[in-house]
Amino acid sequence: MIRTRVAASLLALTAACRVAPPPQSVSSEHGAVRAETVIEAQMLADLVNELYPRVRELVPDTPDQDIEIWQQDDLRLWTHRREPLSTRGFTVRELHRIHLRDNRRYSRWFLVHELVHALHGPSWHTLPAACMEGLCDWVAARLTPQLTDTIRVVRLLEASRYCGGMPVRIGYTFPRGYRGMTVSSSNLQHLRITSDPAPEWSVERVLSIDPLDDAEMIHRPEASGSYGLGFLFVSRIIAARGIAGLHTLCVRAAAEHRDLVPFEWLADAAELHDRRDLTRAVAAGLDRRAVRALVDDVPDLLKTMTDRPARAVLPEVIVQILWPRFCEMSAAECLDRTHPQLRLADGTRIALDHMHRLRRDFTTLWEANQSRATQ
Ligand SMILES: [Zn+2]
Repeated sequence: MIRTRVAASLLALTAACRVAPPPQSVSSEHGAVRAETVIEAQMLADLVNELYPRVRELVPDTPDQDIEIWQQDDLRLWTHRREPLSTRGFTVRELHRIHLRDNRRYSRWFLVHELVHALHGPSWHTLPAACMEGLCDWVAARLTPQLTDTIRVVRLLEASRYCGGMPVRIGYTFPRGYRGMTVSSSNLQHLRITSDPAPEWSVERVLSIDPLDDAEMIHRPEASGSYGLGFLFVSRIIAARGIAGLHTLCVRAAAEHRDLVPFEWLADAAELHDRRDLTRAVAAGLDRRAVRALVDDVPDLLKTMTDRPARAVLPEVIVQILWPRFCEMSAAECLDRTHPQLRLADGTRIALDHMHRLRRDFTTLWEANQSRATQ
């Protein structure tokens, strides 16, 4: 996860508590970039030169300012406190500095995300903390085309925790000749993919966390999936009104002397008023490209971003359906004879047995079931 650090007492603390900067430094057009080696620092500086102006072009009220960037293998600000593996970067606005873990294939995503944190001006301060995370990811998705669908679907999966999981319909064939079946029959099952237990806090509670006073609360377990919720709301508001429309809500809230954009304004603008709206929006977001990203990219991403083992969420659901009925078959035989397919909200059918990565993850899970069954 990505975290913004806005510690009010930061500047009062002694420099002795802070970690030393990475040894090598190069200059970007927008400030120093530090890393373990000059080559790494230069690669990151090139990215900054490309992405900094594009972030400012997209997001209103992003004043020009120098930003220092530290790339760290061991992500931390303080000598006594190490960041968990799940934190990929954070911004310290008081120091005009971004800290990034060495993220390799996700560098652009996390750099853009943190640049939005670092550059946004005071007119955005009425945007709730989860929506600010959503805005950071929305901009990152726009400026990182190769990860657009991956960012979208991983955030959709998180948002679905607030409506009982991502609804999917899986169809499969009960093959002729199996267990005395004389004809093939089609079956359709409605299920929900869930990535984690439902959060304790309501949608309204999570979207009412103040980014200035209690930004850290969005990382509490009671608000798990808050980034996904923020992303869903923000992306729907931007789709309907543009990024200027989202900004207008923030400016209007400040003009009315409100600390935050009220939840009702967000719900109206995103057309997400209740659990049913949320379920419908999550289902509609799972399009063909999102399914492809869910199968091919999300398992590796989850492995990188969390301390837990990788989870192949869609193959897990298919194993759950097919295992009780076809456990005598091998994984390959089961896929080839039952032809599982995903039915999307718009009626599109996607054949899952032809997806290479899905077959691989399905086989691993299926064989693990088989070895458990024979023990
Ligand atoms: Zn963030």
